[in-house]
Amino acid sequence: MKVDIFTLKKQYEQIRDELKGPIEKVMSSGGFILGEDVGLFEQEFSAYCGVKYGIGVNSGTDALFLACLACGIGKGDEVITPAYTYIATSFGISIAGAKPVFVDTEEKTYSIDVSKIEKAITKKTKAILLVHLYGHPADMDPVMQIAKKHKLKVIEDCAQAHGALYKNKKVGSFGDAACFSFYPTKNLGAFGDAGMVLTDSDEIKDKMVLLHDYGRKGRYENIIKGYNSRLDTLQAAILRVKLKHLDEWNEKRRKNASLYTKLFKEAKLNIILPQEAEYAKHVYHQYTVRVKNRTEVMERLAGKGVRTLIHYPIPVHLQECYKELKHKKGDFPIAEKCCEGIMSLPMYPELAEEEIRYIVEQLSEII
Ligand SMILES: *Cc1c(COP(=O)(O)O)cnc(C)c1O
Repeated sequence: MKVDIFTLKKQYEQIRDELKGPIEKVMSSGGFILGEDVGLFEQEFSAYCGVKYGIGVNSGTDALFLACLACGIGKGDEVITPAYTYIATSFGISIAGAKPVFVDTEEKTYSIDVSKIEKAITKKTKAILLVHLYGHPADMDPVMQIAKKHKLKVIEDCAQAHGALYKNKKVGSFGDAACFSFYPTKNLGAFGDAGMVLTDSDEIKDKMVLLHDYGRKGRYENIIKGYNSRLDTLQAAILRVKLKHLDEWNEKRRKNASLYTKLFKEAKLNIILPQEAEYAKHVYHQYTVRVKNRTEVMERLAGKGVRTLIHYPIPVHLQECYKELKHKKGDFPIAEKCCEGIMSLPMYPELAEEEIRYIVEQLSEII
């Protein structure tokens, strides 16, 4: 049997017919930039998350740096962020001109360790930019309390957590701004790059509207120096179709995750499984486990036709691109430990029960 880490083909087959009409409509209208579907998808997705405004942008990375700028973050500011995440999280801070200040990870949920945030606050700290990693929400209540006490902005990186719940409320509805990516393999993915910023604040919304479209007020009247980072109409039309399936797809991910967990527990393997905190509804963007001898395990699994990936092999503070921050090994020991053992197994809504059983059987023979 061959099981890839992900495949987008099965999902496309499922919705191929549904997509034809909306795609044709955009193609024949010629309204490729800021066409009708963009505004509609902004409304529908922000309503889905329980947030007032959505501003579609080019990518999740753009969503992050534009949200930082719209929150008034820039040169000379510090932003607290996890050392263990995809690098684009801290790029949002860096591209905005500010300095990322890393905080270690909490080992059970792989979220930022909230108990270590206050120690990282200085006079320059402007915001906390956190991540709901792998689809598991960070512990938002204490984060919001700390932010309130120190008058900091909160920005959520929701790129892996579309539809995840924290205490029955959607992620993306807690911070001053929330950033989503619709990269094709995310829980809600476009047919190319796409992203969105959500906010309840009129001020942040107004700034975002300017920043993402050349700082334009009228057609040729530019009141600030802006960017060109707009969500394509075609992608918006596709995302509107796919949004209707998101809850069903997330439920399938959760079902697949519970089967993995049940089978691993029955097999009593020496392997660390993902956990779901009491406050959380996990949407399993990834099903990540931690194993000893990871390289060998991955190679042997590949030999059995199962492709796995490492999310992520190097913590952000040890990446070469951040050498100016002069971090060294040992600065964030939990993040470093997670990077050493982590391994993502195939996870997508269309993954079949027999494929999951096959993967667990193969792993039982290796470990
Ligand atoms: C995918 C991802 C991003 C970046 O999104 P792009 O659309 O690829 O630019 C940012 N943060 C996290 C946590 C991600 O997983």
